[in-house]
Amino acid sequence: MNHRIALAALAFAAAQTSAAGAAPMLGFSPSGADAERALEAKFDANLSAGAIDARLKILSAEPNEVGSPHDKANAEFVLAQLKSWGWDAHIETFQVLYPTPKHELLEMVGPTPFKAQLNEPPLPGDASSAVRENALPPYLVYAADGDVTGDLVYVNYGNPDDYVALARMGVDVKGKIVIARYGSAWRGLKVKLAYEHGAVGCIIYSDPADDGYGPGDVYPKGAWRPDEGVQRGSVLDIPIESGDPLTPGVGATADAKRIAIADAKVLMKIPALPISYGDAQHLLAELGGPVAPKGWRGALPITYHVGGGPARVHLAVQSDWSLKPIYDVIGVMKGAERPNEWVIRANHRDGWVFGAWDPLSGQSAMLEEARSIGALAKTGWRPKRTIIYGSWDGEEPGLLGSTEWAEQHAEELKAKAVLYVNSDSNTRGLLGAGASYSAQRLITEAAADVKDPETGVSALDRAQAGLQVRGLAPDATEDAKRAAKAATSGADLPISALGSGSDYTPFVQHLGIASINFEYGGEGEQAGVYHSQYDTYEHFSRFGDPGMVYGVVMAETGGRLVLRTADADVAPYQFADLAANIDQNISELHKLADGLRERSAAVDRLLDSRAFALADDPTKPTVAPDRLDVVPAIDFGPLDAAATRLKASARAYDAALAKAGALKPAAQAKLDAVLIGVEHSLTDPQGLPGRPWYQHLIYAPGMLTGYGAKTLPGVREALEGRRWAEAQAYIGRTAAALDAARARIDAATAILKGG
Ligand SMILES: [Zn+2]
Repeated sequence: MNHRIALAALAFAAAQTSAAGAAPMLGFSPSGADAERALEAKFDANLSAGAIDARLKILSAEPNEVGSPHDKANAEFVLAQLKSWGWDAHIETFQVLYPTPKHELLEMVGPTPFKAQLNEPPLPGDASSAVRENALPPYLVYAADGDVTGDLVYVNYGNPDDYVALARMGVDVKGKIVIARYGSAWRGLKVKLAYEHGAVGCIIYSDPADDGYGPGDVYPKGAWRPDEGVQRGSVLDIPIESGDPLTPGVGATADAKRIAIADAKVLMKIPALPISYGDAQHLLAELGGPVAPKGWRGALPITYHVGGGPARVHLAVQSDWSLKPIYDVIGVMKGAERPNEWVIRANHRDGWVFGAWDPLSGQSAMLEEARSIGALAKTGWRPKRTIIYGSWDGEEPGLLGSTEWAEQHAEELKAKAVLYVNSDSNTRGLLGAGASYSAQRLITEAAADVKDPETGVSALDRAQAGLQVRGLAPDATEDAKRAAKAATSGADLPISALGSGSDYTPFVQHLGIASINFEYGGEGEQAGVYHSQYDTYEHFSRFGDPGMVYGVVMAETGGRLVLRTADADVAPYQFADLAANIDQNISELHKLADGLRERSAAVDRLLDSRAFALADDPTKPTVAPDRLDVVPAIDFGPLDAAATRLKASARAYDAALAKAGALKPAAQAKLDAVLIGVEHSLTDPQGLPGRPWYQHLIYAPGMLTGYGAKTLPGVREALEGRRWAEAQAYIGRTAAALDAARARIDAATAILKGG
């Protein structure tokens, strides 16, 4: 999985004070920074675009979905590579519930009979696309088995707002089959919301406006989705919890205690299938009912109607619900001074079909880091802290490999992990990062020392330029404008908060480990083959990253994040960024509550004055919206006060760190132990409402967005869901977490000051 990291960001950070001479490096003395940069120059010299390319070709040679022979072969290949580079490497195997399709059928039974192709044919010039052996057909993993027939309804993206709009059009989906287009939110929510509104089946298609002939010529002439291309994917309810559905909270080892499939909370309850726009056009063209609202129309050469009917479809799905093995490959290089502090760097390895872009572009670049670090170790160098490289399996179905490993080693990870660094797909373009706020300075400093190959400026300067330009666009969001302002001021690189969509989720949101997710992108034209049979080496080397130039840039960036965190005297967290971002998030909550209150009052006024009816075209009447409950006064006081205290403590720590001389090794280790706990203190063992697995009170994937992050999620989602008492309760819980983090930061400051 991979969704382009939204650069829309939240960050206000103190402007960097750049002294004359070499730029400072967080956690290092000036001489230590010089030595580290010298090490990085050697690290860079070992990196090879040719090696990344050759490895990508091997890894993407055959389909490598979970359970396929090539998935296992790739694990063994990565294991052998890591060992040959000097890593202490092994494979950890887990047994996970992974349904694979046995039977799929989608047909229109009236008015015009039509049978969907559900197949992606070979394309000229792409030899991989002709490989059929061990390739699974397009499907949605963890959708229910079923055989249903019903009238069809078009629900746009299938978001909550779309169902509100449908209700106002007088259309409901009870007992019907919905067709939604990809985009806007995560695909699993489309199926879940369809079920919650009473639909018996769900079809998801890729509209050409989004990633087909709308944005460019289609493959193989251009890069974009051809009319038979289908986006596969997972519909596991990851916003509830990620990982194997049968072993929530524990590693899915062979002898783990498993719940029954019927008791799993994260499986979808209706059958669902993904289809191409070639297939979808036949179905959509036969819909009657109201013409779809303007924002709902895609780029097919038809008039988009909503239905329901007269198009009537028959949807049948049956899967093999057996356990399948997944293979995580783990390479360890023990730290010379602090072996019990871990820096973890990982990327998933499984893909949908070949997965050359998603995820093998990132996997091959990440392995190049491991190769180069191995070469440094062969010269006698050793990291201070332990470095662990992970090659995850089973990410696509639901972050299975990373989650099971994180759950299996949870206690050790909570105590030892300093930082988790994740990547996924990678292409040409600009750096984008999502991260724990305390890692914003580390990312900024690393990006400042990586050269962008297309422009010759640093990756940081290019990323900041991109944000500045985007903030000027006529349709720029408030977040984009804020990011542009921060980028212009020379503050740290704006980052986004972590939602979900890749393997950092179990580390940051379940275990409370500071985490980074980064990628280069925006110029590679890969979106049109996302999760399809056409995400091949042939496509990627033409349109994604010709020459693997940005594979090297990814390795330079990932390598710096890893090496600096491994070698720093003091774990490289910066807390002014943490406090400033949280402060910004709290101000958003104030605005959210005020906006909800104003809207409730406005809807009431319009209902009282019959304005909805008066505004309607009498020949096309709509249903007036429901009255909204009154928004009570909400006391943000505890949260505001905790944020103010946190800001003061963060400033004091950052100042003490800047002033601190060399600490004795014992004090450094003690300091790190306190610092590692800061991120963890932002979690709550009770977790978020309805999803206790998610324990972080600052970042979570939205229950109704799936990928997109919700910051201060306990409070924010309660407000959005109009659960006022819950919002008040989570204001208290979140304030307590901020105070716990502050106490840790104060303890760290005391150690720095020799206390
Ligand atoms: Zn991926």
